[in-house]
Amino acid sequence: MHLKSLRIRHFRNLGVQELELPPEGLALVGDNAQGKSNFLESIYYLETFRSFRGARDDQLLAFGEAVFRVEGLLEPDDSGRCDACNVAAAFQRSGRVKKVTIDGTEPPRLSEGIGRLGAVMFSPADVALVNEGPAERRRFLDIVLSLNQPGYLGELQRYRQVLAQRNAALKDTRSMRLAEVWNETLVRAGAAVSHARACWIGRWAEAFATYYAEVSGGRAARIEYQPSIDAQPSADVEAPGVEAWTEAFARQLDAAGEREVRMGTTVVGPHRDEMRITLDGERELDVRDYGSGGQRRTAALALRLVEAATIREVRGQEPVILLDDVFAELDEARSERILSLIEREETGQVILTAPKDADVRIRRDVLPRWGISDGRIEA
Ligand code: ATP
Ligand code: MG
Repeated sequence: MHLKSLRIRHFRNLGVQELELPPEGLALVGDNAQGKSNFLESIYYLETFRSFRGARDDQLLAFGEAVFRVEGLLEPDDSGRCDACNVAAAFQRSGRVKKVTIDGTEPPRLSEGIGRLGAVMFSPADVALVNEGPAERRRFLDIVLSLNQPGYLGELQRYRQVLAQRNAALKDTRSMRLAEVWNETLVRAGAAVSHARACWIGRWAEAFATYYAEVSGGRAARIEYQPSIDAQPSADVEAPGVEAWTEAFARQLDAAGEREVRMGTTVVGPHRDEMRITLDGERELDVRDYGSGGQRRTAALALRLVEAATIREVRGQEPVILLDDVFAELDEARSERILSLIEREETGQVILTAPKDADVRIRRDVLPRWGISDGRIEA
């Protein structure tokens, strides 16, 4: 898929504009604070109907306006595979109403409209994936799996809802009697979430290591699932299936009963998962604790490359690559290696931003240069 055209109305500082985007992509060049990231944010909004920077919808709405709207026409690169598609999203300040349409029709649930474009956003803020606590990495897993695995988001939402109810019951009553009614649903949804996370990490751990090694010039790093539920495979089984996760979760939930009552909260389950990122050396070191700035950025980048590879595998389509000024802080050698890696892997649309023309280093010779000033984009 690529984004063929984009209509924006009152999204951040972008005003009202209609743009035709080249299938190979473009480089948006402009000074700081002109709206470059806002432009990518509006595009990625069509993928998840949320801000990639974690901003609330009312923050995306232009100051003083009542409604923003983003509409994109997506076109398949290889027209036999699927149809062109129109995705639109609007948000109204009063009543905080969000409306999404796919080809003019509202999907029954927002979750059914996500992931149409197949885009991956690379941003300098991605380093938070490594620097922050486990919640940040769970969020990453949840987004990638929600966009690429049918059914995942539904299980996750069920899990969260039941978890909240169970926690409220534990907190209020300090007993298991009420909380217990949620156990079965919690276990079923939680096992599905854990299983999906385990499978995804198992599938992509090697690719992560390869990307990291390539960008860093041969150094090693790994990702590893550290689930809250212990469903270790027995020696003769390769990876635990969803039944094994269900069984293990139920068992550990039972065992935790006393502690849960004492603490007034659910202490076991995928809401406590970690995806550990380590540097391989003589001893395994957490990148989060021991990595240099460059190592952290490289690890975050490798995660995004794996996200792109997931889209490629699951959908059989080149992902749309959105690059928000990403080479700003990497040394020359790393930047060069990332460039050649992206050049080699991506043949789809690339939309990047840079403060100066000299910073446009991917597809230097083919990407049209667009300018932006005070939110106005000039092709
Ligand atoms: P940099 O190169 O520094 O990253 P940028 O071009 O990516 O800059 P953006 O983050 O896209 O800049 O845009 C920042 C500008 O958008 C700021 O000037 C800010 O005031 C403006 N802005 C942010 N939110 C809104 C909004 N809701 N309404 C109007 N303007 C907004
Ligand atoms: Mg920016």
